[in-house]
Amino acid sequence: MGEDAKIRLLDLDLTELKAFVRSLNMPEYRAGQIMGRLLIGDDIENITTLSKADRERLKEAAVSGIPEIMLVRESKLDETVKFLFKLYDGVLVECVLMKYNYGYSVCVSSQAGCRMGCKFCASSGIAFSRDLTPGEILGQIIAVNKFKNIRIGHIVIMGIGEPLDNYDNIIKFLKIVTSPDGLNISARKISLSTCGIVPNIFRLAGENIPVTLSVSLHNPFDEERSEIMPVNKRFPLDELFAACREYVKITGRRVTFEYSLIAGVNDSRRHAGELARRLSHLQCHVNLIPVNKVTGTGFERPDRSAIERFKGYLEEKGIEATVRRELGRDISAACGQLRKSVITEETQQ
Ligand code: SAH
Repeated sequence: MGEDAKIRLLDLDLTELKAFVRSLNMPEYRAGQIMGRLLIGDDIENITTLSKADRERLKEAAVSGIPEIMLVRESKLDETVKFLFKLYDGVLVECVLMKYNYGYSVCVSSQAGCRMGCKFCASSGIAFSRDLTPGEILGQIIAVNKFKNIRIGHIVIMGIGEPLDNYDNIIKFLKIVTSPDGLNISARKISLSTCGIVPNIFRLAGENIPVTLSVSLHNPFDEERSEIMPVNKRFPLDELFAACREYVKITGRRVTFEYSLIAGVNDSRRHAGELARRLSHLQCHVNLIPVNKVTGTGFERPDRSAIERFKGYLEEKGIEATVRRELGRDISAACGQLRKSVITEETQQ
């Protein structure tokens, strides 16, 4: 069987893995052993609890599905590490490992490319390739754990792609990652970031996987938001906030709003006032992020004092806000930047 046609084991949950193992005439309890070893990054060959014959049978029909690390960039300023992965079909995705006082957190990609077309984002400049499978999202975490010999405790789905545009795969990933048979990471330690695909926020609220919902807002006025985020034309702010309120109501979790400050575009007192008005009845927190420069966008970050002023306006109105600490500035750690630079180099050769 060709490698591409083989089952990728990491895409299977334990029930599916049991069925697969049975189809190879192995006892069902082997599935748990196999899963345990895949989750620490072992390849089929290394699963020595299986007989050599069983390993051969498994290898005939399946591959582990852990993505290949193509490039690693370690920051000299902090402990941030950026990874570029090559998937089985050559598609590239990236993820970022960050060290906080509470432990390791990883920012994973959910798609190879993005269809959302946000004007300020590095992922918009590169064509969309495809959705990532559950195992390809999970595989990023496993590969990083193994490479650094660590145990990642927090996950943010904030890398390349729009997770709620890849809904079924993201839900399966979340189920495996939070399961005691999987990585056993609590939903409370996972953040999912969306540009605002409203129907899928409602669906997520009902999944009983109460992850922190992070909404990329960036502008409190419909017309202006639509200009930088085309998704707003489909799902305008009233609908988005209704979905957020429902998320809070059902999950009991407060929502986080991401607000990338762009000089002269969304950083005025008028914007802060409207933002505060819009958020006043919502249990939430605002993360202010000075926009990262992406070649070709023309967007610049406001200076430090303008950022503090904006934060001050929000706090005056009782809205909690933090200015996001920047990690890995020297290694293109922000969303999509490394992949973009590698793909651009490749296409220029
Ligand atoms: N599609 C999802 C997740 C990926 S983007 C979403 O939109 O939330 C992750 C975050 O980075 C989003 O908040 C996005 O708006 C933000 N972002 C993208 N490009 C940026 C840039 N150049 N500077 C600052 N933040 C950016």
